[in-house]
Amino acid sequence: MTSLDDFRREPLLFGPSPVHPLPRLSEALGGQVEIWAKREDCNSGIAFGGNKVRKLEYLVADAIDTGCDTLVSIGGIQSNHTRQVTGVACKLGLKAVTVQEGWVDYNDMCYDRVGNIQLTRIMGGDPRIDPAGFDIGYRDSWTRALDSVRESGGTPYAIPAGASDHPLGGLGFANWAREVAAQEVEHDTFFDTVVVCTVTGSTHAGMIAGFALEDRDDRRVIGIDASGTLEQTIDQVTRIATQTADRIGVGRSLRDDEITVVPGYEGPAYGVPDRGTVEAIQLVARTEGVLTDPVYEGKSMAGLIGMIRSGEIEPGSRVLYAHLGGQPALPAYAGFPGLGAPERELSH
Ligand SMILES: *Cc1c(COP(=O)(O)O)cnc(C)c1O
Repeated sequence: MTSLDDFRREPLLFGPSPVHPLPRLSEALGGQVEIWAKREDCNSGIAFGGNKVRKLEYLVADAIDTGCDTLVSIGGIQSNHTRQVTGVACKLGLKAVTVQEGWVDYNDMCYDRVGNIQLTRIMGGDPRIDPAGFDIGYRDSWTRALDSVRESGGTPYAIPAGASDHPLGGLGFANWAREVAAQEVEHDTFFDTVVVCTVTGSTHAGMIAGFALEDRDDRRVIGIDASGTLEQTIDQVTRIATQTADRIGVGRSLRDDEITVVPGYEGPAYGVPDRGTVEAIQLVARTEGVLTDPVYEGKSMAGLIGMIRSGEIEPGSRVLYAHLGGQPALPAYAGFPGLGAPERELSH
């Protein structure tokens, strides 16, 4: 049986990502639930960091060890993931080719110019715009990108959407779970509830597998769906959690209650916020100065807020909110009411 330490990790982070309390947000939600954040949005000096850099520590180690020279991946036009893949390639002297599809039915003035795609271009990446719609699975455009690298004499390393559906995809956040346990000792606390955004699934799945190693039943991980394709995300989280648990030596099957994906906060579609998303973004910004994005973290923040207000997260709980990054997408939503455009236009 293998364990997490059997997999090589290319260090790309500053170290353990910071954890800190959010007392004014807690107070604004009634003061009965203690909320902390763990900050993957400031986990690395590479291209603003984020959850994908943490996953890539394991994938790029494999890319280097297998003699690959070009990272090939896929995402939407405003993908945080492809920006992080490109940044990591720059840092390690590799190349990156990223297929960028029209996943989001939203068209701000500069949607295909600012934010993540802008950063990717500044870093000298090779973003290839493709009109296909949202799908977290495998795509033809992606196969074509891999072929084109081979045709020009390169050796591609294939990284699926979100670095998720890959044998090493769950390891980064299995390691995160271990980091949390060490930080709890340091802060003399215990987080009974972890709230995380889930779309391509390996962030949430990695946490499930990592915490399963502790084998205790008083900690729950709540995944807030932001994909709007719930069944597909549940399948993917379950599959990756199971496979990761196996790889890191959990040595038992996962219980159903360890896999929790909560719908209701996804808004009208993937990548499109609603009033609840915008209110959540504003509340955490106005109480804590902490910024979140309208595609992912604003939705998981809306989930956290909604579940505290409804009592699904009970008074007395101590919650760790996993902030996974994503703020570079904010300029691409400057025309959205409440996110740049005057708030009175908010009609959703
Ligand atoms: C990719 C991403 C997520 C979702 O993580 P998955 O591992 O794809 O489920 C959440 N938040 C941000 C900011 C992301 O970039």
